Amino acid sequence: MKETSTAAGSNFIRNIMEEDNETGKFDKRVHTRFPPEPNGYLHIGHAKSICLNFGLAEEFGGKCNLRFDDTNPTKEDTEYVEAIKHDVRWLGFDWEDRLFFASDYFGKLYDFAVELIKKGKAFVDDLTPDEIREYRGTLTEPGKNSPYRDRSVEENLDLFERMKNGEFADGEKVLRAKIDMSSPNMNMRDPVIYRILHAHHHRTGDKWCIYPMYDFTHGISDSLEGITHSNCTLEFEDHRPLYDWFLDELDIYHSQQIEFAPLNLTYIVTSKRKVRKLVEDGLVDGWDDPRLATLSALRRRGYTPKAIREFCEQIGVGKSNSTVDIAQLEFVLRENLNKIATRVMAVLDPIKVVITNYPEDKVEEFDAVNNPEDESAGKRKVPFSREIYIERGDFMEDPPKKYFRLAPGKEVRLKHAYYVTCTDVIKNAAGEVVELHCTYDPATRGGWSDDGRKVKGTLHWVSVPHALKAEVRLYEHLFTVENPDDSRNEGDYLDYMNPSALTVVENAMVEPSLKSAEPGRPFQFLRKGYFTPDSKDHSADRLVFNRTVGLRDSWAKKNK
Ligand code: ATP
Ligand code: MG
Repeated sequence: MKETSTAAGSNFIRNIMEEDNETGKFDKRVHTRFPPEPNGYLHIGHAKSICLNFGLAEEFGGKCNLRFDDTNPTKEDTEYVEAIKHDVRWLGFDWEDRLFFASDYFGKLYDFAVELIKKGKAFVDDLTPDEIREYRGTLTEPGKNSPYRDRSVEENLDLFERMKNGEFADGEKVLRAKIDMSSPNMNMRDPVIYRILHAHHHRTGDKWCIYPMYDFTHGISDSLEGITHSNCTLEFEDHRPLYDWFLDELDIYHSQQIEFAPLNLTYIVTSKRKVRKLVEDGLVDGWDDPRLATLSALRRRGYTPKAIREFCEQIGVGKSNSTVDIAQLEFVLRENLNKIATRVMAVLDPIKVVITNYPEDKVEEFDAVNNPEDESAGKRKVPFSREIYIERGDFMEDPPKKYFRLAPGKEVRLKHAYYVTCTDVIKNAAGEVVELHCTYDPATRGGWSDDGRKVKGTLHWVSVPHALKAEVRLYEHLFTVENPDDSRNEGDYLDYMNPSALTVVENAMVEPSLKSAEPGRPFQFLRKGYFTPDSKDHSADRLVFNRTVGLRDSWAKKNK
């Protein structure tokens, strides 16, 4: 089901924080954290969590930590750590000196586990992973106690220490919390809190061969950092009793876990597992392929951090699962780019026009406004000459009635330059139009006439001797269906990839001012959309542009 943000900007966590500040629950402190697992690149969904955690902390004069939840050594890597830090900074947030890693707490977490054992609240279990699953029961049937559940504290302490010392093989033993095998909440059925894994960790190296589980690690990390509001996505709601249980049993500072609805968008897939598959199978060109919804992909494509932040504010934060129309994100992006993008002329599918009454070697330079929305952006000079390129699609030999672009005998305005009238159509042997001849009216210099004659069509163009060749990459949704992830679909998300998600235009012609364009800088190619130079492939010798988003707006129309 799609939902547009009716209560734009409403955020129930903001309300909770206000209330807590009134009652003094956390001594008027707001201290949040953003806790990514460094097992992939951040995506647009994470932006919601980042804006929520860093944004609210900022708003309440509080703090937000960046904490890597790095408890899965086999899946994690420093490459991801660096990419995540870059993305958070790019979005405009700052963790100052509060960069933490759950792995920094491995020593403390071990001590807490020992404390639980001493309290009789944890035990070493010899059941195999399969047996543990069997003993767990189902949603409708209670589980069974493990035969090892009643080991003495001494025996548990001894075995746990020997687990740490590497005396056992992977999977041979685990440490489990002793809670309640008949709890209706499966998470409370003696959950595993430590497992044996002889694996190299990207930070702690080979120091540990036992690793704490997420649920145990997360709450304790929050507690150690004095987090007030521990915001996480809805799927952790059923884990909250366990979160609370650990902190209560250990009797340490208690953060409040609060669950909110994750951001889902139409036409994309965000799960790191699924994106990794696309990357590893070469179906896309790396984690920052502009067709993806990772933050690095959106950046490469030309999204601005401001647009992403505004979008996150606009969709608000609620409790119920929904999917947001990606057109809403594109709408916010377009509004932002409209304010900041430099207008330039680029012809994506060029056809040559010769202006037969224009002197052969003459070059004029016309003033072009860089951004009508922003006077301070100034003007630039655009060269004009006897030969220009226009879009092939802006000419029709045999046009229908209300056609306002170029056609035999018709007059159009060349943006910033002159009015021209088409006089001749040149064809090749196959009958294809290869060149057009026009005449210009010198009295319309700058693209204006004061004799009252009506010219409806305005075309963009590029002077042939001044044009720079460019590669232009056009994007569409990566998937052909709104919810490629939906379990009710036939097949899986890979079956719904859009083969035309990328179209490469090899021989576009762009105005010479783009020679010095830098990646990330936003441009509007007049009548063609918003573009930015590609951060990987663009250089002064090889111009490569990504289309960020088209000009046409479907979302605002739909929601008028
Ligand atoms: P994925 O399953 O998409 O790969 P994840 O949840 O495993 O993501 P984490 O690194 O564990 O990724 O997430 C870090 C934080 O971002 C967590 O607090 C998580 O709840 C939050 N988060 C993840 N996905 C979303 C989303 N779609 N919307 C909002 N918050 C999200
Ligand atoms: Mg996760």
